[in-house]
Amino acid sequence: MIPYFDAHCDTIYRLDDLSRRGREETLRENTVHVDLQRNAAFSPRAQFFALYGDAAQIPAGQHWQFCRRLHHRYCREIAANPDLVSHCTTGAEVDKAVASGRSAALLSIEGADLLDCDARRIPEVAAWGVRLLNPVWNRANMLSGTNCEEPGRGLSGAGRDFIRVLEEHHIYPDVSHLSDPGFWDLMKIARRPVVASHSNSRTLCAHRRNLTDDMFKAIRDSGGVVGINLYTDFVGPGEAGQTNKTDQILRHIEHFLILDGQKTICFGGDLDGCESLAGGINGVQDIPKLYAAMARRGYDAGLLYDIFWGNLRRIL
Ligand SMILES: [Zn+2]
Repeated sequence: MIPYFDAHCDTIYRLDDLSRRGREETLRENTVHVDLQRNAAFSPRAQFFALYGDAAQIPAGQHWQFCRRLHHRYCREIAANPDLVSHCTTGAEVDKAVASGRSAALLSIEGADLLDCDARRIPEVAAWGVRLLNPVWNRANMLSGTNCEEPGRGLSGAGRDFIRVLEEHHIYPDVSHLSDPGFWDLMKIARRPVVASHSNSRTLCAHRRNLTDDMFKAIRDSGGVVGINLYTDFVGPGEAGQTNKTDQILRHIEHFLILDGQKTICFGGDLDGCESLAGGINGVQDIPKLYAAMARRGYDAGLLYDIFWGNLRRIL
């Protein structure tokens, strides 16, 4: 069977959003990109579920409450499906879930705005088992500018303190969405591996959400990982005349391989976090198409295992 460990999806937000519109769907089986039944086609299998919300859409003073509601939804979905999934915090717990034939579910938070950018809330989310946290989503906040709002502003003093406390609590800072100066400020102070959970190559697709070659190398040298994002806008159109859509995704992987990324590349598909996926992917059920395309192009079994499982598993 095909292994699959993905570093970023917004399925919990999507289910919560559907509930607010009066439509109840579940993590077990749903009409969005990721559910536990479709996920069961992989072995071993693990998924980071992000707690995400657009800070600008949440009423002032309610961000932490919103974050706790999403966490409660995550806990409820995991508890309702003990036959299919286990909540995991460490690599050993992931291995245990895998050995029992279940999906390993892990937690991340996209945007420190959901913690009111308050480092004093970090111990609580660490106790939930959060292992990855983006200091910013697209909205600039008191910690940093982002790729699209105040992109020239780096980490503030509060931002640096926030990163330090994250690392003390074994939460990896996630640089996807961060401004370029924020990225380099963070790399300067990071003492542990740094993660870009869902970002591609800017050399191939010139979007500020993607990583320059120097950024990729800095993450590689920190011992961290970079998750390949399947959102069409970050994959880009491919080369002229390129008809095989899967190849448009593979060229990001192959560019990172040229940068010695064998132990750095993983997936962070952004499923349920974007409107359209590239490469003929319509949900987690289509990931085997990517695996098959990579095998056809001669990726050896060890490399496939590292990209689909080993690299992300290693950092936990
Ligand atoms: Zn994102």
